Amino acid sequence: MTARSELLTRAARHAERYLDTIHERSVGAMVSGDELRRLLRRPLAEDGEDNGQIVDDLAQAGQVGTTASQGPRYFGFVTGGSLPVATAADWLVSAWDQNAQMYVMSPLAAVVEEIAAGWLKDLLGLPATWSVGFVTGAQMASFTALVTARHQVLRDVGWDVERDGLFGAPSVDVVVSDVAHRTIFTALRMLGFGGERLRRIETDGQGRMRADRLEEALQGGSGPCIVCAQVGNVNTGSADPLADIVPIARRRGAWVHVDGAFGLWAAASPSLRHLVAGIQGVDSIATDGHKWLNVPYDSGIVFTAHPEAHERALTMQAHYIQRTPGERDPRAFTPDESRRARGVPVYAALRALGRRGVRELVERCCSDARRMADALRRHPQVRVLNEVVMNQVLVGLVPPAGDPRDQDAFTQDVVARIQADGTCWLGTTQWQGRCAIRISICNWSTTEEDIDRSAAAILAAVDRASAKA
Ligand SMILES: *Cc1c(COP(=O)(O)O)cnc(C)c1O
Repeated sequence: MTARSELLTRAARHAERYLDTIHERSVGAMVSGDELRRLLRRPLAEDGEDNGQIVDDLAQAGQVGTTASQGPRYFGFVTGGSLPVATAADWLVSAWDQNAQMYVMSPLAAVVEEIAAGWLKDLLGLPATWSVGFVTGAQMASFTALVTARHQVLRDVGWDVERDGLFGAPSVDVVVSDVAHRTIFTALRMLGFGGERLRRIETDGQGRMRADRLEEALQGGSGPCIVCAQVGNVNTGSADPLADIVPIARRRGAWVHVDGAFGLWAAASPSLRHLVAGIQGVDSIATDGHKWLNVPYDSGIVFTAHPEAHERALTMQAHYIQRTPGERDPRAFTPDESRRARGVPVYAALRALGRRGVRELVERCCSDARRMADALRRHPQVRVLNEVVMNQVLVGLVPPAGDPRDQDAFTQDVVARIQADGTCWLGTTQWQGRCAIRISICNWSTTEEDIDRSAAAILAAVDRASAKA
């Protein structure tokens, strides 16, 4: 064996061992930061070290210092795993080490992304004419979409924001829901709109934007306007009523952007599609591949209904850019210059799952979420706070009678116990001013047995925290 082949085989063996044991290990990280530093930190060597040893050391540290987010019982944040075929495709991406920005630099990367983009639009019921960009995550997908929105709404009033910037530009009325995801505010800040110079629209008890309030807010307005909606609230999984919002925004001449980081995938299922009804009428959408599609990090996808605006907003001419007539240059649709061929794992996952596979993956996570909610709500101290319409379960806890702690302190105690127990992993969130537990089910490998085991571990932690009082 050559040194290279030995090294790659060694890494593959480590990866296999890691994935073979992911179901049974403690789901949280098993060591502290200090222990990891002890394993990995050393003075930077003057001379390079043995390659095999480096791979072994990383693998050993990875065994204990990672969280089992690749496994079936990691329910923290909104986190997907990675389908084996997507991981394998990602290894090829690293082996090829292509710069995916221009067709001329990697015909393969450009063509695979073009094919994957077409499949995504088909699967999600989006018009074939829409533009697609492969970015690092929903954060950058929203950023890219809103760069395009900024370009277009200002161009509509005769302002060239790429040339003249925002100083002295016509004011843009930016409207978001009062529970918009943090990444929307970050994107708007990076775009010069300011994180607080926005109008927030009231939501209902499930975190859905109220269309009647939006209508009032947009009444009589004129000039550039951007409305940011969302499908898939991180706490409740609920979706804004796009079918009502889009016509209201249209009458105002607004650009409608939708954060669909995970919720957009409901469009792949006939039984969930009603949640995103109206999505074909919006101007741009952000979503993730690394959540519900279960491809490796980092994978976000931006869609726009305005391919020319998308390109105009992002394209800078430079003498070294070489466009290939008739071919799609990936860089035209993303803010990146050099980047990895991150459309390749998306291609592999879609081909491996097929339409039915994506549909079943999405539906299974949603039925697992209902199963989890049903198992938890039988306990007298548990309140399921959301309508479980998608893959998110939001749980409130009631301290036992006589417990001096308030609900937040009790919940923190229970969550610390769940995390320490290691059967499953989940975190807290704030919902209507209170601490709540958020459970998100996004992993391709989660089974009903995983749900039952996890529900039992959660309820046991509630009981142990209550006994302490
Ligand atoms: C996860 C998430 C994001 C951010 O996505 P990244 O891929 O982490 O950038 C944005 N919005 C919603 C609703 C999310 O769930």
